[in-house]
This record gives sequence, structure tokens and C-alpha cells, in this order.
Amino acid sequence: MQVGTTGARQVAREAARELENAGVPEPAASAEVLLSEVLGVGRADLSFYGKPLTEDQTEKYQAFIRRRKQREPVQRILGYAYFRNLKLEVNGETLIPRSDTESVVEAALELIDSRGGSCRVLDLGTGSGAIAISIAQERPSCEVLATDISEAALEVARCNACREGVNVDFRLSDVAEDLERSIGKVDILVSNPPYIETADIEKLPPEVLCWDPISALDGGHDGLAFYRRIFDEAPAVLGNGSDVVLEVGDGQAEEVLDRGGRAGFIPLGSRPDLSGTPRAALLSLRW
Ligand code: GLN
Repeated sequence: MQVGTTGARQVAREAARELENAGVPEPAASAEVLLSEVLGVGRADLSFYGKPLTEDQTEKYQAFIRRRKQREPVQRILGYAYFRNLKLEVNGETLIPRSDTESVVEAALELIDSRGGSCRVLDLGTGSGAIAISIAQERPSCEVLATDISEAALEVARCNACREGVNVDFRLSDVAEDLERSIGKVDILVSNPPYIETADIEKLPPEVLCWDPISALDGGHDGLAFYRRIFDEAPAVLGNGSDVVLEVGDGQAEEVLDRGGRAGFIPLGSRPDLSGTPRAALLSLRW
């Protein structure tokens, strides 16, 4: 049985070697995912694809591999990213949704369930809409609102929600400034704010530095600028007994919980991501 040694699998293997030699991270995964896209088959089915590539397919694949060699992220090449149950369109205005953030959604869902599964949820700085759309899709009895400072990002997020057939109320807003008048109070606030220290931005890998919008990454000199703003501005849109779920950068969870505590929130603890790193800080507000 020679299928897989002469077919698609072999083409992917050669491309992976080329990417590896160019120092591209996760070369095999990149090569396989991009080939799956070109051939229109699932990644797991590449082994069973015995036909040689057509000229068009070869040309398209070579162009994809050239872009990946320049460290363009696979999701940017494809124009979409997978996040929980969703296939989300991404563009230069939106951060590529990270698997880390899936655990932030998980933490928010737990809180929603502890409230009986139906409440008002606000996602601040939604980007491609990953958090808001996931929550709306996975807990359809919630009312989900989401904001972003970028109208272009909101356009992408609206398209993503529409494509997934879920209802999210998207609003243009800089963090929670002036939001109370238009949306009233919510029960759960969730956010993945920019949290990279400004001085660390230039150390990020090219996939992030050159392709994610800096405004979605830069958390100011100590990486905590947006947490300060959230603790300052969010109480206006939070009801008594509301909960807050914030994605945090590596090593920031304790500091964020502590600052929230000093700003009048009750720190509830943190939740890890799949690699075991504390990724979501949980707080509540009661009076
Ligand atoms: N997790 C992203 C990264 O390190 C940063 C996202 C953010 O700042 N919220 O690439």
C-alpha cells in the first residue's frame, strides 16, 4: 500500500521539511493544514488522498508555503481560525483567537450555569467576536453584548455572528466608557484585553508582532493598563452580585486579582488554560 507515500502526505512532508529548514515553528502542522485547505479535505484525510496535485493546486500550495516561510500565521493565510465550535473570519483588525482564550470562555460558562444558564453577558474588546459568539452559541438563553474600539473589528465580528446564526449586540466603545446609558447593567463581564508590556512587544514572535494589531496586544508599560480601566469603568455597567472574568497574561493573575480587590471587587481566584498556566482571573462585585 503506497497511498500516503506518493500522495498528499508526501507533498506535505516535503513542505514541512522546507518550513523546518526556514526555522518556522510547528512546520508539520502548518504544512498539513495548508494542504488540507488547498485540497478541500480534512487534515486527517490527507493520508487517503492518493491523487497527484493539479497544476493549480501545486501553485496555490507553493504560494501558501512561501507566505508561511515569511512567518505569516496559518490563520492569516487561510483567513479564518477555529475557536471552540466556531470557524471565525479574521483580518488585520482582529487578534487571531487563541486556544488559551477557550478556557476563559469555559470559566464564563461555569458562572453562567451557576446562575441558571440565562443572564446578560458583556464581552469588552471582542475583536473577531470569539468570546461573545461562543457564549451566545453555547448558552443560547443568554443575552450577549460585545464592544470593540475598532469599527472594522466589529464588522468582522458581526459577520462571524451572522454566519454562525447567533445573536450578539455589538457596540462601538472604548472599554466601558459611556456604556451604561446605552446598555444598562449586565450580570457577567468577560474580556481578553491587551496585556503585553509595551517593552515586550518587540520580543514577540513574528507571527504575532507583524500580524496581530498592536492595539490588541499593548497593555501599557506594566501590561495592566486595561485592567485598571476595567476596574474603574466597569462598575457602572455591573449589577449587584455580578461576576467578572478577565483573561490575563503569564504571571499576571495574582496582580490582577489583587488590584481588583483594592478597586472594590471580590477576588474569587484564577482558572488555568490547557497548559496549566493561570489564564482567567475571576472576581465579583457586591454591595
Ligand atoms: N495571548 C496573546 C499573545 O501573547 C496576547 C493577547 C492579549 O494581549 N490579550 O500573543
